[in-house]
Amino acid sequence: MKYFNPEAAKEFIYLCARAGAVPDNKIPSERMSYVEPAPITDKENPFEAMMSRFHEAAMKLGLDEETYNVLKSPTKQVIVSLPITMDDGSKRVFEGYRVIHSNILGPSKGGIRYDPHVNLDEVKALAAWMTWKCAVVDIPYGGAKGGIACNPREMSAGEIERLTRAYTSAMIDIFGPDRDIPAPDMGTGPREMAWLMDEYSKTQGMTVNAVVTGKPLVLGGSLGRTEATGRGVMVTALTAMEKMKINPYKATCAVQGFGNVGSWAARLLAERGLIVQAISDISAAYYNEKGIDIEAAVQHAQKNKGSLQGFTGAEKINRDDILTLPVDVLVPAATEDVITASNAKQIKARLIVEGANGPTSSKADSIINEKGIMVVPDILANAGGVTVSYFEWVQNRLGYKWDAERVNRRSDRIMKEAFNNVYQTAQKYNVSMRIAAYMVAIDKVAKTYQYRGGY
Ligand code: NAD
Repeated sequence: MKYFNPEAAKEFIYLCARAGAVPDNKIPSERMSYVEPAPITDKENPFEAMMSRFHEAAMKLGLDEETYNVLKSPTKQVIVSLPITMDDGSKRVFEGYRVIHSNILGPSKGGIRYDPHVNLDEVKALAAWMTWKCAVVDIPYGGAKGGIACNPREMSAGEIERLTRAYTSAMIDIFGPDRDIPAPDMGTGPREMAWLMDEYSKTQGMTVNAVVTGKPLVLGGSLGRTEATGRGVMVTALTAMEKMKINPYKATCAVQGFGNVGSWAARLLAERGLIVQAISDISAAYYNEKGIDIEAAVQHAQKNKGSLQGFTGAEKINRDDILTLPVDVLVPAATEDVITASNAKQIKARLIVEGANGPTSSKADSIINEKGIMVVPDILANAGGVTVSYFEWVQNRLGYKWDAERVNRRSDRIMKEAFNNVYQTAQKYNVSMRIAAYMVAIDKVAKTYQYRGGY
């Protein structure tokens, strides 16, 4: 058996980084005016960020070269062109992606993102994170992710519905309750999942509600799914605070992002006694030393198309200053790559709980570690969502409904157990919580692969 070759792996990461500089999706010129171009920043390629952690954890585990190569390579990558009739009668072609990173542990699972900056590299990284996330919380799924480069904020409900149905139809051989099970992500929610389920069901000649999770309750959605990711953030934050001997009733907190994950995390952390001093979204950030009334902020956002803009319960501050406030707990719950080598030194929180996927660049990891900040990494902290998605799928397949108490009790237990497992691994190998989480995940997928074997 050949053993892990660090030089070959470095070369691979280098090639990934280079590949990231060249967009995989060639955008036809007529779409250039429609799709907002990605801003030019010093931001890290998300696939590179994922691979550098994978690499470090694989080295610690002493993973053999064959298994390393299997686990790093996505199983399937699909790109589709979706011509859609817009409300004004014109036709626009959108690019849609689905990447199945792994189906070693079971059918692949992962959300669908609607955002102008969606690209293959991002989807590949998000798909791999799903593999590690499902393995960390020990649920029998592989990892996948999908997305469409579009701006749902500028589209009508009819345009989004046609796009969702066209995407589902194009992916009909990929999706399936035993093959690949989508879910919501940024820019999508229960409404899109209902259209997806309906379109898929039509082609099968029967209702197949287990093909997608995050559905509205009446279509077989699970109680507790909407708040599940924020709830998992709260549970892992409190478990970490217990280890760090931080009293939640005296702790302060800042939450970046006020969508599904951020607003629920803020609400549930406030319910558990934390003083949520700052919240933010894409429009602005708001600070109140005495603590923000999160219910009032939720109601404001609900009345304001989801935006915090104009919230009067706190002082408006610079949007990105939320990350460097002197709080005990920081919850980045917006988007990837917000904690970078440029701002990591200014972070004052003692604990970071990553509600978003990939909020910390790999280059910021060492700075954060040197400062002695504990990080509950994304693949652990935000795994409450996929855990309850799994419960939704189980209920659909059983044709049965669980009450909210059962859903919450079981997901809380899974999140606490996963935290403790990662914490013990971090202590045993003297590594960060992030590398420990990758080690737990990679070890599980690698062992399963070795039992299953290949050609
Ligand atoms: P969402 O679309 O509901 O909300 C995103 C929020 O982030 C919005 O309030 C938006 O205004 C804000 N935002 C975007 N860019 C920002 C910036 N630069 N600064 C401040 N705020 C910004 O999305 P969501 O479902 O809450 O997902 C948020 C993150 O959590 C994503 O990384 C997603 O992949 C991850 N995640 C979501 C789930 C889930 O169940 N929804 C599960 C796991 C991980």
